[in-house]
Amino acid sequence: MNAKTALFKSMRARLTFWYTAVLALVLLVFAFSTYSYLARAAGQRTDDSLSDTARALISNFNAELGDENQPAADAVREAARGFHFPDRQVIVFDNRRNVIVASDTSEKLPFGASWFTSPAAQFRLANLLDSASRVGRAYDTFFDSPNALRVLAVAVRAGRQPGYVFVVANPLRDQEKALGQGRKAFYVAIPLALLLASLGGYFLARKSLAPVVTMGEQAARIGASNLNERIPEPQNNSELGRLARIFNELLARLDEAFAQQKRFMADASHELRTPVAVVCGESEVALSQDTRTSDEYRESLAIVNDEGQRLTRMVEDLFTLARADAGEYPLVLADFYLDESINECVRSVRSLAAQKDLEISYQPSAREIAFRGDEPLVRRMVLNLLHNAIKYTPGGGRVRVSVKDDQRQCEIVISDTGPGIPLEAQPHVFDRFFRVDKARSRDESLNGSGAGLGLSIAKWVAEQHGGRIVLDGSNGEGASFIIFLPHLR
Ligand code: ADP
Repeated sequence: MNAKTALFKSMRARLTFWYTAVLALVLLVFAFSTYSYLARAAGQRTDDSLSDTARALISNFNAELGDENQPAADAVREAARGFHFPDRQVIVFDNRRNVIVASDTSEKLPFGASWFTSPAAQFRLANLLDSASRVGRAYDTFFDSPNALRVLAVAVRAGRQPGYVFVVANPLRDQEKALGQGRKAFYVAIPLALLLASLGGYFLARKSLAPVVTMGEQAARIGASNLNERIPEPQNNSELGRLARIFNELLARLDEAFAQQKRFMADASHELRTPVAVVCGESEVALSQDTRTSDEYRESLAIVNDEGQRLTRMVEDLFTLARADAGEYPLVLADFYLDESINECVRSVRSLAAQKDLEISYQPSAREIAFRGDEPLVRRMVLNLLHNAIKYTPGGGRVRVSVKDDQRQCEIVISDTGPGIPLEAQPHVFDRFFRVDKARSRDESLNGSGAGLGLSIAKWVAEQHGGRIVLDGSNGEGASFIIFLPHLR
């Protein structure tokens, strides 16, 4: 069992545990409230029944008292004699707390007829009688006998004679028995319900986590070498189905990014090979001949130097793109005048244009353009486009640069009278390492890496500033690139 299987196993156990724990809590609350309700209802029933008995007894007493006009004590005895309660006892006290009459307790009753004579019971009974004398009636529960007793005491007046207290005692045996049975039912039913529920919960968790286990095992097998594989997607729109789809989409994006990186590495090493080969070849030739003039050495060194510079630029461009991909090239924003910056770029390439007998013109905007952005990167973007225009425009041609802005964005146009970019190549000009004509790009050694990275970097810079570059038509009469840069607020 590997770590992942163990994780899912413990997840299953945890799900079951929580499910059972919550259910146990619900059942306990349910059992507790049901039990308390039943106990209260049973207690109320007993009290009502005691009260009925007391009422009947007292009305009997009153009748005896009125009819016969006999002494109250006799009326009490008569009234008590008329009642035979198989399961309860009647005791009547006079106002000095002497027992006037205490009915017999049948063998059905679980306590003796004189249960109230025990010291503990006497103490409680005295309190009960006091309460009854004060407020008319009072209830109490006696726990001293083997079975608890519920006792009602009712104070009764006897005309002008001293009053009496009628006490009716009822064992709680039946009530406790019924509640005990209820308790027992809960003791059995709750653990049984929990056991069944936890078994059911475990199997449910196992069943619903089974696709996760499969997905996890498959995901564990996916690595850099088989990023094209996907995890199985459950054929429904459940959460797991969506999770699998999202995971697969993530894999697809990783796969694409990985493939892009591999292409980048392969293209980069391919591009680096040529200048390195030229440097090695040229230096070997120079070293292999014993007698060479200093001019010949100079020529060789110039070639080595050219290729060295080309290599440096290429490595710089590659480094820029690699950092950009890794998100490690944050913009350093500053305020500057965009028109002035572009003017300086144009000035810096004038001698280059003059070498090729190209006319280069700059049309600034009507007013200064205060801009916020990463000035070195903006210059690099403009220079890449300018170098391309000069590189690909044949001698005698023209390069035009203009800039204008409105409230929202700036627009920089760089156009030339070169061969332009063929229609079929236009969608790819901003792709890395893309060159319309590899020989042409490399032959011209006018600045620029010649590796097909200049436009990719320019596009990245524009996008980093929230803008874009478009190739605005190129129909064999030159290329025209427009850079749109929004004003960053
Ligand atoms: P490179 O370093 O090869 O110039 P870029 O990314 O700057 O790479 O340009 C990609 C390709 O687009 C170039 O190789 C070239 O074929 C074409 N291109 C770019 N700018 C121009 C232009 N002004 N005129 C004609 N072709 C161009």
